[in-house]
Amino acid sequence: MRKCILCGRNGNGDPLERHHIFGGAFRKKSEKYGLVVDLCGDRCHRNGKNAAHVNPETAAKLHRYGQRKAMREQGWTVDVAASGEETVPHCDKQIHGVWKRSPFTLDTLRGVRQLHRILEQEQYDIVYCHTPVGALVARLAARKARAKGTKVVYFAHGFHFFTGAPLINWLLFYPVEKLLARCTDLLITLNDEDYQRARRVFPRKLRIEQVPGVGVDFARLQVEDPQQADDGLININTASPDELKKLPGIGDIKAEAIIAYREEAGRFDSIEDIMNVSGIKDSSYEQIKDYIKV
Ligand SMILES: [Zn+2]
Ligand SMILES: [Zn+2]
Repeated sequence: MRKCILCGRNGNGDPLERHHIFGGAFRKKSEKYGLVVDLCGDRCHRNGKNAAHVNPETAAKLHRYGQRKAMREQGWTVDVAASGEETVPHCDKQIHGVWKRSPFTLDTLRGVRQLHRILEQEQYDIVYCHTPVGALVARLAARKARAKGTKVVYFAHGFHFFTGAPLINWLLFYPVEKLLARCTDLLITLNDEDYQRARRVFPRKLRIEQVPGVGVDFARLQVEDPQQADDGLININTASPDELKKLPGIGDIKAEAIIAYREEAGRFDSIEDIMNVSGIKDSSYEQIKDYIKV
């Protein structure tokens, strides 16, 4: 029987709706990997205060759930280490880390030792880490494992150092991230500024990729254009620069060029017309054509 993946209700009185765990540009991947789930339409999908399209925490929780589920179905063993006691569904083993939210305690060092022992024992193929402290602990702990072939992936949701950030952030976080970049194989950034800066300042050996479309503020999309949130496609006639930048290969410059073209020449009649914009040629079009509409 179908039921809501968040609360377990069966849709009585609040019919279930299908939700793509990875929306926007990743919609098709969600379908391919069985990551389209049922949610109570009103309460858990669109309108409730913890609904997937309202609360970014819920969306992030579903993302992590989807990652674990897809990996386990592909035959991976997925162990999760997180600080605190929260139970994590869909993993093989859960490790309760001793580190805290603040890096400036002895628990950080204890956490490194704790994880180091586990990594030595389990010999994982991949260590995937996110959140500043979690990624600090994991990357320090994985140094030895990495020398033996473990790959370390860091998903940076947003660096604390950015243009306009307080000086203290630059003094504290920039040197640390730069050092830790040496303990990383793949860095994934969400926003364009982090991506560009990482490419400039981090070691050349480090592979850096940008993943657009994760962490989308669906609630905001929905207010501006309900149609847009519905099918996950970006309407090139109405999208804001931030929305355009969620498309693969579209950064500040191309997003601005699209907006400028739109203001000058008016609406796009078809998605192919986006190739009239300077800087967007066949290859860019191939990358984005499945994710846009007029
Ligand atoms: Zn949805
Ligand atoms: Zn529900």
